[in-house]
Amino acid sequence: MKNTSNAKIIGLDNYRNSTALGEDLSNLSLLSLRLQQSIEIDPILRTFCEETAELVPCDSVEYENKVIDVNFTTGSTQKHHCKYQLVLDDEPLGEIICTRKNPFSIRETDLIERLLSLLIYPLRNALLYHDAIAQAHRDPLTKIGNRAAFDEAINKEFSSYKRHQADFSLMIIDIDFFKKVNDTHGHIAGDKVLTSVAKVIHDTIRRSDEVYRYGGEEFVVILSNTKQGGAKFIAERVRKEIQKLTTHFNQKIKVTASIGISSSEVVQDVTEVLDYADKALYQAKEKGRNCVVLKP
Ligand code: GH3
Ligand code: MG
Ligand code: MG
Repeated sequence: MKNTSNAKIIGLDNYRNSTALGEDLSNLSLLSLRLQQSIEIDPILRTFCEETAELVPCDSVEYENKVIDVNFTTGSTQKHHCKYQLVLDDEPLGEIICTRKNPFSIRETDLIERLLSLLIYPLRNALLYHDAIAQAHRDPLTKIGNRAAFDEAINKEFSSYKRHQADFSLMIIDIDFFKKVNDTHGHIAGDKVLTSVAKVIHDTIRRSDEVYRYGGEEFVVILSNTKQGGAKFIAERVRKEIQKLTTHFNQKIKVTASIGISSSEVVQDVTEVLDYADKALYQAKEKGRNCVVLKP
């Protein structure tokens, strides 16, 4: 693997060298044991920082993995630093920077490097776990969140509403006569339309809101801090953007969508959120499609 930054590369050899020196490794063993107590990135890094602080006090420890966009920081960054790229079998595992007001001695950086070598396997396992969870929550066709991701998000949103009265709305977007798209242009064309519609929705809603593929040709968007009026406004914008969309697949394919909205103003519990939006969607279909309906 190419070392593109000026960070020193840390791998398992750093651990092998430390054992060869025959030093007292009781602290390293303890760290090793503690690092095995979780398979999630944050707790593992937190444990690493706690144990490292006992041996080499640092003002901050920062971890960054650009590939999966994960950041972890404790403390506040200071002038002096030591920086490492973690690697296992040529696979980059991210970069760690320890900083401090006072310079690090060679003995201290040596120790940090040995400690880091113990982080390699637990961190690699945590990254694999992180990836598996991310895959399980992503729709393979459109690359947006799937139903499992939505279920988690809506439960979180509803809890937040209960705790802080943070209003929210939900829109369910269903492509009109989508079966006809498949029948006329074929399934691959249908798939392309689904991907294009997902992108249009994503590009039209606010950055802080998330779109999920709920099923076949149905998408859902949770609109945080949004009451019915605001949701209707956003939904109309989404509806118009979908109407403007032309997907090219042998021929030009145009679609429209119907949208149902529910909001925290009208629901009593989390199960009603989707249920009410679905009822509103049904009314939108009844009204003739390509329109937005609010749950009264
Ligand atoms: P309506 O306006 O009432 O919503 O009609 P519709 O045709 O959109 O609804 P219907 O439920 O009858 O058909 C949905 C279609 O979506 C049928 C199914 O084959 C298609 N579909 C579901 N998932 C996929 C997919 O992943 N790819 C493709 N190409 N089609 C899909
Ligand atoms: Mg449908
Ligand atoms: Mg449909």
